[in-house]
Amino acid sequence: MAETGAVELSETILHDVFGYESFRGQQLDVVRSVTAGRDALVLMPTGGGKSLCFQIPAMVRPGTGLVISPLIALMRDQVEALQQNGVRAAYLNSSLDWESALEVERQFASGALDLLYVAPERALSERMAPLLKDARLSLIAIDEAHCVSQWGHDFRPEYLQLATLAEQFPGVPRIALTATADAPTRREIIDRLHLADAELFASSFDRPNIFYRVVQKASAREQLLRFIGEDHLGDAGIVYCMSRKRVEETADWLSSKGIQALPYHAGLSADIRADHQDRFLREDGVVMVATIAFGMGIDKPNVRFVAHLDLPKSLEAYYQETGRAGRDGLPASAWMAYGLQDVVMLRRMVDDADSGDERKRVEHRKLEAMLGFCEVTSCRRQALLGYFGEQLEQPCGHCDTCLEPVVSYDGTEDAQKILSCIYRTGQMFGVAYVVDVLRGKSNERIRRNGHDELSTFGLGAAHDVSYWRSVIRQLVAKGLVSVDVDGYGSLRLTQACRPVLRGEEKVSLREDIRPTRRATVSKAAGPKVPQDVGDEALWQALRAKRREIAQAQGVPPYVIFHDATLVEMAALRPRTLDDMGLVSGVGEKKLARYGQAFLDVLAADRHETVVD
Ligand code: ADP
Ligand code: ZN
Repeated sequence: MAETGAVELSETILHDVFGYESFRGQQLDVVRSVTAGRDALVLMPTGGGKSLCFQIPAMVRPGTGLVISPLIALMRDQVEALQQNGVRAAYLNSSLDWESALEVERQFASGALDLLYVAPERALSERMAPLLKDARLSLIAIDEAHCVSQWGHDFRPEYLQLATLAEQFPGVPRIALTATADAPTRREIIDRLHLADAELFASSFDRPNIFYRVVQKASAREQLLRFIGEDHLGDAGIVYCMSRKRVEETADWLSSKGIQALPYHAGLSADIRADHQDRFLREDGVVMVATIAFGMGIDKPNVRFVAHLDLPKSLEAYYQETGRAGRDGLPASAWMAYGLQDVVMLRRMVDDADSGDERKRVEHRKLEAMLGFCEVTSCRRQALLGYFGEQLEQPCGHCDTCLEPVVSYDGTEDAQKILSCIYRTGQMFGVAYVVDVLRGKSNERIRRNGHDELSTFGLGAAHDVSYWRSVIRQLVAKGLVSVDVDGYGSLRLTQACRPVLRGEEKVSLREDIRPTRRATVSKAAGPKVPQDVGDEALWQALRAKRREIAQAQGVPPYVIFHDATLVEMAALRPRTLDDMGLVSGVGEKKLARYGQAFLDVLAADRHETVVD
């Protein structure tokens, strides 16, 4: 097919089938390239719109698009969404019974499918081999392609075998997609999947709709509750914790405060995990409190916040986890509470891990970057993108440090006080003790050790405990002080602190913003209405209609319509089916199936407003 014809057809499909006005970012370039039969590697942030990059070429080119996807939940979601739009899509995985699988195989063999989703091990199985041999494939899409990377956190050994698909289907274009941005992962994907000749499409990794905030940990749970209560009451969100125990405690506690929270971690039975995940996907406004076991393949577009009660191990992990917020492009928050204890614990975990020296060095570097991000005094988004090799020209104006500039000051003298106090007490004591000596607190232990005689005793009386803890946290984050892993958490000086002690190097410190108010959640406040809607009653009515339809079909509400589509409906208030068809996200199929039902909701609302 001529390329111009293919582009026109792609645009028609975008409009008629998916209900969207125009392609975003690099979508059209990718679609054009793959449709023309070339291989592609697509790096796009979560929510960037990767799926259309292979779905549309699969529909334009003759044959069936084979989509390799690592997770059952992910496949189910995408296939349900495609079917809603009238696309002939199906999946094959272990969740299907024998007969259903046979039926899908039959459809595939007869060429009745535009898209077939399969797990990697399935694609390479003996059962699949004869089917694939006789099939006409339009393309092969490898989703979540970073699963091929051994350094990454989502490594899937089956992905390594996928390179053989290149030899098996020499004329079929392959497209690999991922939201993991770093250069080593990219190199591994190209290498392992034999994509050296593929065209590279690297988008900006900025997620402009996400607001980033890092707060100093005081009482983390209360801070979390206040954050949810003030900004996200009634919203769906994910709260990440480091341990199973903390997950359970936090979920219980949030529930006791009237937040609909569910726990998720690898220690729960498969049934409970599946049930909680299902409720998170299908119900409105569930907060999932989870370890990192939760999240991969969660495609829910309207996750409004991701909160971290503990520090992730790396910025890669942080960015991937926070990236699960706001896939639909509507405003979302990434919120994290961070404190001295996190630094100490993570350093200890890296040191204690029985990994080789090389691996440890890598992990230490990653941790440094993570700490640097927490302590940054300039725009957080600039720091974050900078880490992934992307320069943002201007401060973003949409993060905590942009909105509430951090006061930094010359903390050289205070740093010296701490450093010499650590030195003079013999580098054998933890934070609490060192701070007591510095503040001149004379207790029995200090007197017994003779530390009330030291020249540093009482030098820091002018500041309170939390001030000194903040200074120590920053010195640890800067690598001037280390926390010993002897179990006592003794503070020690590192080589790097020498120039500071000698007065040759200055130390810039940030003034922490201290949390003040206590957390309360007002019972009266319901879920927040998006700004563009304004009309609470209409918003709730549209959501209720969507929920009703979704429940009848046993699919998540966002498979019917995304929040963004409902927001636009409420803003445009179409009165006819034609006008309804103009709303972004309403394609021909959905217009025919649901258009009238939502028009009725809008009409009822108009009527009520008039009567009022
Ligand atoms: P990714 O896989 O990159 O995380 P998705 O493919 O799930 O992203 O797309 C994210 C959201 O953006 C989805 O809700 C999708 O329907 C929507 N979307 C994608 N492309 C467009 C477009 N061209 N116009 C409007 N919405 C789009
Ligand atoms: Zn900023």
